[in-house]
Amino acid sequence: MADAAKSVAESGGMTSNPFPGRMADFRLRFPEWSVDSFLFFNMNNIRYLTGFSGSEGILYVGPRGQAHLLVDGRYTTQARKETSGLELVHMTDSVDSITILLAHENASVVGFEDTSLNVQLYRRIKGKNKRLKFKPLSGEIDLLRALKDEHEVACIRKAAVIAADALESVFPIIRAGVSERDIALELEYRMRKGGADKVAFDTIVASGPRGALPHARAGARKFKPGDAVVIDYGAVYKGYHSDETCTFFIDRVESDLKEVYGLVKEAHDRAIAAVAVGRSCRDIDLTARDLIDHKGWGRHFTHGTGHGVGLDIHEAPRISYKSEQLLEAGMVLTIEPGVYLPGKWGIRIEDTIWVTRGKTEVLTKVPKELTILG
Ligand code: ZN
Ligand code: ZN
Repeated sequence: MADAAKSVAESGGMTSNPFPGRMADFRLRFPEWSVDSFLFFNMNNIRYLTGFSGSEGILYVGPRGQAHLLVDGRYTTQARKETSGLELVHMTDSVDSITILLAHENASVVGFEDTSLNVQLYRRIKGKNKRLKFKPLSGEIDLLRALKDEHEVACIRKAAVIAADALESVFPIIRAGVSERDIALELEYRMRKGGADKVAFDTIVASGPRGALPHARAGARKFKPGDAVVIDYGAVYKGYHSDETCTFFIDRVESDLKEVYGLVKEAHDRAIAAVAVGRSCRDIDLTARDLIDHKGWGRHFTHGTGHGVGLDIHEAPRISYKSEQLLEAGMVLTIEPGVYLPGKWGIRIEDTIWVTRGKTEVLTKVPKELTILG
């Protein structure tokens, strides 16, 4: 391995500070969006552009390119530590602080996130800044965030490794008589212990008939021989989520379930194989959906094939037959077909993948071959 390659590998492929570059790329879009400045309330968008990971704050990027981070007294130390190159503004009343800043910076058309700003706050800001135009641009910011840089992919990859190590360490205790909740708690504890900031969402462990509820929480039900057990789980590392679903069988697998598992696995594999720069999200969804439909299980595949994942567990793009969005290099998304027979069982197989110009990389780590535990 050459020295340069080695140092990149040792740093996990990360450049030291990704935020100035992201901010510069973002500002380059102002002419195309016809705005001269931008007001952010979404904490994950603020984190994406500045590195600030607090739970409250406002970011304003003005016409001259200066970024201002407005935080109250609880966050000044954290903001100073986590960010560089921006002006920290001590905020008392948010609308007053924004109004002073907008006037001082001589803003005229201000982009904002229409999916994050509540109506009451929007009205108050507009009321105090009547001469300004406000332009909703959430979708544009979502698309910017959909394209991950190497730093972000390294974080998602690490989150996926932490999660997989935790799940594989729990295999020996997955057996008949153990409850869903016991496995979920053990898994969550081991992800935290393994270095996760937190778990990506409430871990789903859904066995037997409960597996037919795609978003079932782990409950008191104890595994029985022949159960299919759906485990949908993820870890968060430096703000970035992993998302993976495994379906295991307890002690044995009935032939009908084996057949459906094979079908879902094939839909999953074909959808991943279809992923390429320039293909539409619709194409990817239909690759999985048409196969499941063709085998007669179409009406039991009740959700989209996948979604983008990053600082949010669900973000752009949606892998749905309703989406004409084209895949681009740098997107990280899930592929997660499932078949659910109400009152009986559910089977879902999910991986998080990275779209590149070369070969698609599967970031989640647990093998998806049919596995019997117990
Ligand atoms: Zn999931
Ligand atoms: Zn998912």
